[in-house]
Amino acid sequence: MTETMKAVVYTGLDTFEVTQVPQPTPGPGELLIRVEAAGLCHTDLDILAGRYSAQFPRIPGHEFAGTVVDADSIYQGCIGARVAIDPLIACHQCRNCTRGYPNLCTAGQAYGAERDGGFAEYAVVRQENAHNIGGLSMPVAALAEPFACAVNALERARLAPGMKAAIIGAGPMGMILSIALRGWDVHDVTFADRIPERLDRARSFGATHTAIVDESITDVLPTADFDLVIDATGRPEVVQDAIRLLADGGTLIPFGVCPPGSQINLDPFEIYRRQLRIIGSFSLNRGIPGALRILQRSDFPLQELITTRFALDAGAETLAAIGRADTIKIQFDPTITPAAQ
Ligand SMILES: [Zn+2]
Ligand SMILES: [Zn+2]
Repeated sequence: MTETMKAVVYTGLDTFEVTQVPQPTPGPGELLIRVEAAGLCHTDLDILAGRYSAQFPRIPGHEFAGTVVDADSIYQGCIGARVAIDPLIACHQCRNCTRGYPNLCTAGQAYGAERDGGFAEYAVVRQENAHNIGGLSMPVAALAEPFACAVNALERARLAPGMKAAIIGAGPMGMILSIALRGWDVHDVTFADRIPERLDRARSFGATHTAIVDESITDVLPTADFDLVIDATGRPEVVQDAIRLLADGGTLIPFGVCPPGSQINLDPFEIYRRQLRIIGSFSLNRGIPGALRILQRSDFPLQELITTRFALDAGAETLAAIGRADTIKIQFDPTITPAAQ
């Protein structure tokens, strides 16, 4: 008889349920993970709304960590390992893979999107997608995936120690980017946001200056002053204004996900004359080990990034909490039983 497990299942567009499903078994090269922390982000809502190529039914969850409890016969030695998961599966053969961009694989899949992910008691992943977390707690280890996305962006930005940075948007990714910047010895970090409480919190995660935005960021931040500006709002009008904050030779990373098809005005002469750079960065590029190293070395209160942990049974409440101003990172803890909550 197949064993069952509890899981959040997207059953169709904009519909999901928390239900019992068959527990997966590891195939060749695969591990069975008991999930102990699984973070949520806007991508989980985008998948539910059909903005990714996921097919339903699907168990979402691409930011997770847990313990290996079963494995393909050649990986029996992995049983008991505590691991964080790289959700991406690349083909290693297409043009993008062979040029060093497996995150842009034209045949790429991801756990939590095209394959079942971590919003469940158990998940099956390929051995090469699991990375030992050392002494990190499971909730902090489950931050490795969003951290690796920040690492991908910052690796592409050619940072140097002592640079002056601005992060627009003090949500979860803003905090994570700020912590990750310390990995490049960038310590001068200005945060801008509309919500004062978020800026208060940013000070615990590396903000050296903060600015409350009312209308435009250019009203409250100096123009032509920052070596690095990262938009973590995903609002095209903010990205457009952010260009004006760049010092000569500066770099802009439009990290927040803007609506597809949105447009901004930019002056190509200004890009040329002031030698500006606009850097794209999508998802993570094998960055989990680097992210884990930053997390292991960090002296920030990383546990405080995770504001709420929910049982799987609280699926609806949990999805509704994504992006709420009073939360940073929210996670499922599939080991919580409703009675124990
Ligand atoms: Zn995510
Ligand atoms: Zn590929």
